[in-house]
Amino acid sequence: MPTYRYRCVTCGTFDLVRPMARLAEREPCPGCAEPAHRVFGAPALRSLDPAVRRALTAQERSADSPRVVTSVPPGARRTPLTTDPRHLSLPRP
Ligand SMILES: [Zn+2]
Repeated sequence: MPTYRYRCVTCGTFDLVRPMARLAEREPCPGCAEPAHRVFGAPALRSLDPAVRRALTAQERSADSPRVVTSVPPGARRTPLTTDPRHLSLPRP
């Protein structure tokens, strides 16, 4: 269920988690019980963990314009395909 922000003219803002079907209803303020109006705001993206936000951004960027790698990165160690010594006797192309 989404989180909606409401504003009471006396007490200020408060957040509520409620179903979308009850979105149009006014909500009584938890402080003074006066009806509060819904406030429209930005999505709650800032509540994401920074590492998760970076991963989501990298995933979107990779899907839109993936980078093409043409060489092995410097410092990368080349791993042998096999360590079995019997494979050395196999015919080579
Ligand atoms: Zn209030």
